[in-house]
Amino acid sequence: MQMPSKFRTYCPYCRTHQIHAVEKVKKGKTTNLHKVERQKATRTHIGNRGKFSKIPGGDKPTKRINVKYRCEICKKAHLRPAFRISKFELVEK
Ligand SMILES: [Zn+2]
Repeated sequence: MQMPSKFRTYCPYCRTHQIHAVEKVKKGKTTNLHKVERQKATRTHIGNRGKFSKIPGGDKPTKRINVKYRCEICKKAHLRPAFRISKFELVEK
């Protein structure tokens, strides 16, 4: 799917339609400060870990897109319910 990098849509802060820039959300760096991160590191691997599972592992065919819509007027970004898509590109217009 191709998406224009700028398009006019509703801004919940201005409460009107404004030009919005589409931004890809960068993956946050893990700081290893959360309890679950430490738990993952110390967890021992008991069991077959899905080796004989009927469900295949690996990447799924579609990924959920992770984008923000930033208003050009108030410079605030908002999120929308994400959808799943196999290919996602931003196109300059
Ligand atoms: Zn706005």
